[in-house]
Amino acid sequence: MSKDPINICANANCEKPIYLGDSVWKRGKDLFCHIKCVSAQLKEERAHG
Ligand SMILES: [Zn+2]
Repeated sequence: MSKDPINICANANCEKPIYLGDSVWKRGKDLFCHIKCVSAQLKEERAHG
């Protein structure tokens, strides 16, 4: 039996599938698989204004 991912990591360099029950980091409507993905995304946004 396979589970469908509920979302993918909002970090464009990661995009790892996120499954129900996984620990996730939320930022607004975005979900991230790891705190590192959140900070990487923040840096990315800062770099691109
Ligand atoms: Zn990620």
